[in-house]
Amino acid sequence: MPHTNHSITAANIHTLVSSNQFGTFFGIHQKVFNEVWARLTHPDGNSVAYISMEIGADPDVYNPVKQRLIDLERTSSMDSKLKGFITKLFQGPEKIPTYSGGLGVLAGDTLKSFADCKIPAVAISLLFRQGYFCQIVDSKVGQICQTVKWQPEATHGLYLLHDPHNPKKPLHIELPFYNEENQIITIEAQVWMKMEISHSLDFFIPEILLDFSLPGTPSPFKKAAGQLYNAESSIVKALQRRMLGAGIIPALQALGITSKIFHLNEQHGVIAILQLIGEELQRSIGHSDFTKATDQQIIQASDKVARQTIYTIHTPVKAGHDRFDKSLYAGISHKSCQRLLDLLAHDEENPHTYNFTTMAMTVNRAANSVSRLHRDVTRKQFPQFAKKISAITNGVHHLTWISDARAEVFNRIPELDNWQYDPGVFAKLEPLSHDQKFRSYLSHAWKKDTAFLFDFINTMLLQHRNQRLETWIDPPNFFSSLIDRNTRMDPQVFTIGFARRFSTYKRADLIFDNLDTLCDIVVSNNWPINFIFAGKAHPADEPGKSVIKLILDYQKELHQKSNGLANLIFIPNYDMKIAKMMVAGVHAWLNSPKRPLEASGTSGMKAAMNGVPNISIMDGWWAEGYHEGLTGWKFGLEKPVEEADLSEAPETLLYSEDSASFYQTLPTILQEFYQAGKGSTFLDKAIMNLALNIPIFNTHRMAAEYLTKYDLHLPKQRQIEMHHFGSLYDSNRNDPPQKASLPSQDDVIL
Ligand SMILES: *Cc1c(COP(=O)(O)O)cnc(C)c1O
Repeated sequence: MPHTNHSITAANIHTLVSSNQFGTFFGIHQKVFNEVWARLTHPDGNSVAYISMEIGADPDVYNPVKQRLIDLERTSSMDSKLKGFITKLFQGPEKIPTYSGGLGVLAGDTLKSFADCKIPAVAISLLFRQGYFCQIVDSKVGQICQTVKWQPEATHGLYLLHDPHNPKKPLHIELPFYNEENQIITIEAQVWMKMEISHSLDFFIPEILLDFSLPGTPSPFKKAAGQLYNAESSIVKALQRRMLGAGIIPALQALGITSKIFHLNEQHGVIAILQLIGEELQRSIGHSDFTKATDQQIIQASDKVARQTIYTIHTPVKAGHDRFDKSLYAGISHKSCQRLLDLLAHDEENPHTYNFTTMAMTVNRAANSVSRLHRDVTRKQFPQFAKKISAITNGVHHLTWISDARAEVFNRIPELDNWQYDPGVFAKLEPLSHDQKFRSYLSHAWKKDTAFLFDFINTMLLQHRNQRLETWIDPPNFFSSLIDRNTRMDPQVFTIGFARRFSTYKRADLIFDNLDTLCDIVVSNNWPINFIFAGKAHPADEPGKSVIKLILDYQKELHQKSNGLANLIFIPNYDMKIAKMMVAGVHAWLNSPKRPLEASGTSGMKAAMNGVPNISIMDGWWAEGYHEGLTGWKFGLEKPVEEADLSEAPETLLYSEDSASFYQTLPTILQEFYQAGKGSTFLDKAIMNLALNIPIFNTHRMAAEYLTKYDLHLPKQRQIEMHHFGSLYDSNRNDPPQKASLPSQDDVIL
């Protein structure tokens, strides 16, 4: 496959600067820029607008432009045109902290795969100047939420767009909001662009980020624009949804982008669809006073817009679905808008609210869940839409999540030639499972990643120890009170990782439900074990925060009851970088949600990309990625899902049942790890994860499945490539994928 049309060399690196009427951008050839922009602004509208409240794509985790410059040894420049860009790239901040968890990271991974696969798309989201929040952890208090300090202006890869009619000024868009008297309040946003640039630097997806934090922005709007998922009041929450949704069409228009397909990544931005329906209705009835439109007219307009809309639903959990009081909406929107919502966002159970999920479910050509099990659950939750709900199982961007050490191994394996472009080639690894060279490379890379993680942890613990001596903060790790300069967490010890948002249904504390049983397993067999945990709870989620506190409280007891054999470490301020380090460095990745509330889960896929086996409840993706004896372990109740299982009430969370099942499974795992020939079956499992799970749980395959819903016209060669990725899996085929044979053991040690 030809991948580098515009290969960049050290000599012609200045060609990475490109300009258009909106500004000057770095990282992409002018010709590429023009081609992509011409596609997005073509009158045929043959492109996708991807709408997401959050996009997680921190440049310190994946940045193909930076990597290319490092490869070319061009990490500084005297060229006046390049100097500013390169300095910012290598010395500027590398975080764009406007994501909260899996939903945002999935959006980022999706866009990176769109770029690699050259699928014409634009993404739209908000720019939050206070990010999500910064997590400090104090062992006595638990989670402390601090405001994030970050500067979009100083962050490389983020560009404030100029107004083409007045190139000295930033581009502004205006949105009408309304007060109770139906009077207009105009709110303005400036427009930022980040580019998700393809691995070969030959394509990009623009991410349009609307920034409403301007000096004149009135107070509640400022709050809504400041912090992702600010839940201070329902009004702030509703304004935030409206800023995203109502900003989309004006932003696209201001840029001349013509996308005809709209993909809602969750329902947060569904107001965009409302606006499209409004335009359609205005065309058909000749005026914009929809209070006078008939139901029939509105439904006709909505049916038309449905042909342009794809909706991905991400969770069966209530907090993920927006409902707003009608009275509240009367204070921020026009009566015409309410007329449409009355019809399209009607909530059977709560007639006084607008239900955004109902609207997104109603107005689309395809509604997708994020795993097979989640599809079945979603059909149960929305029986009236059951027919159109299908599964497109999530994936992760393999180039982002495969560690450098593992990537080096893959680069040396002839069978994996082209792995950067085709995650399907990992299926060829199966015959290599007995290859001694491959096994020792892989084992070596795993150890390297473990060492890296433990260096990070031990440095952190030393800092915590000093913090204990120097500040009022009680550091979050009991272990740091034990250590002197020579005590270290030991990377040879079996290490389980767990990191994700702390929502109660994810049950981070499940495996510590019975410390006596846990410690008994460890002590009676003399099997040391490390638990490395991380994750944030939403600032308003008190139960979630108390789970963090519980985890901290367990540390001392666990250590003491296990005679120091079991240690539990908490890494504060979880983000993508910590995620990448953890999923590659641990020996097994744990997920313990209450089935079937996880929907998909993606951190386990990131572990699988590095060959790290999962220990998980049979929920979300693991019901598809688990192969008995091959890819990891399962535990917990596994009966057919019923309506009652969707409860998140504390007494329905099945702690004792599922933790007992974990304690039953754990000895097998520990024995495998510590058996003679140390961990060779872990290496078998590593290879099987690479061979069976990378080809499936990657975003190239996922993008290919979405493509069948988009109905885009792509060049022949693109179609062939995407068909190949799509053929790696069919999320809606119900029989499990073919099982591979179990590789035999040998004595390469882990
Ligand atoms: C991948 C990722 C998540 C999602 O993890 P789940 O297991 O799907 O809950 C959340 N936060 C960060 C920073 C991630 O990288």
